[in-house]
Amino acid sequence: MQFQPILEDIVATLRPELGAQGQVADYIPALARVPAAQFGIALRTCGGEEAQAGDSATPFSIQSISKLFALTLGMRAMGERLWERIGREPSGNPFNSLVQLEAEQGTPRNPFINAGAIAVTDRLVSHGDPKAAMLELVSSLCNEPVHFDEEVAASEAETGFRNIALGNFMKSFGKIDNSVSTVLDAYFHHCAVRMTCQQLARATGFLCRDGRHPFSGEPLLTERQTRRINALMLTCGTYDAAGEFAFRIGLPCKSGVGGGIVAVVPDRLSLCVWSPALDATGNSLLGMHALELFTARTGLSIF
Ligand code: GLU
Repeated sequence: MQFQPILEDIVATLRPELGAQGQVADYIPALARVPAAQFGIALRTCGGEEAQAGDSATPFSIQSISKLFALTLGMRAMGERLWERIGREPSGNPFNSLVQLEAEQGTPRNPFINAGAIAVTDRLVSHGDPKAAMLELVSSLCNEPVHFDEEVAASEAETGFRNIALGNFMKSFGKIDNSVSTVLDAYFHHCAVRMTCQQLARATGFLCRDGRHPFSGEPLLTERQTRRINALMLTCGTYDAAGEFAFRIGLPCKSGVGGGIVAVVPDRLSLCVWSPALDATGNSLLGMHALELFTARTGLSIF
């Protein structure tokens, strides 16, 4: 299949809608001032073919997409033991919700809500330096150096009252082993990783290649672990809209409030779309639209 003309066509179709609807995330100034009228798309096939269109080389804040890489690090470090304190059910609640945590004794519903990612990060602190591990992993996966946006990380820390509450609440149930401030410093930095669509399309390549590194082919995760990450992306990867994503797009996806969404077609390709304006569920409005166009035009779906 020729992907380049399909991506160019998607950009041309969406151009008139750029910045017309949705809201850029505004809980920190560094995200609030990102111009809404931007859109990028990039993909990489399992065979290494690449295609990209629009603002695919513009770096953005990957935000919750980092939860995917933190989970990968956690599974690598701990295997099955990671699941002793983290569930696998969709939450049906906002990504930063506290309510279920009380009923479930400080065990987060899944690794893609904030509480779950904070719990995963706690495990990573016990196993080494999660900030260095994150940059090392994503840089290796996309074959280019990747950095934190320190301004975003500092703002996350200044305004992250809800995340601080989540960390302390889990700690009160004995479900966080390390100092909450150390864990949150790493979590906020993970949210503040800056990458482009091209880099993310490459970096998520291991998810369509049964856990093998997109460039070296080295096993990063087992086939079973990779299938599990894809299952969690499908059921829990897009906030409260996972059902809608499965219905309209039919691919495992993970989104972030920076406007990025990564998607995986197992055994075929990984792709990333980015447009900063979000819908009411916190997912990129044009990103979701673009993924719908992509699956309609290519016929690709896991179903
Ligand atoms: N930094 C955000 C938070 O922790 C991440 C939000 C997201 O992308 O879901 O609140």
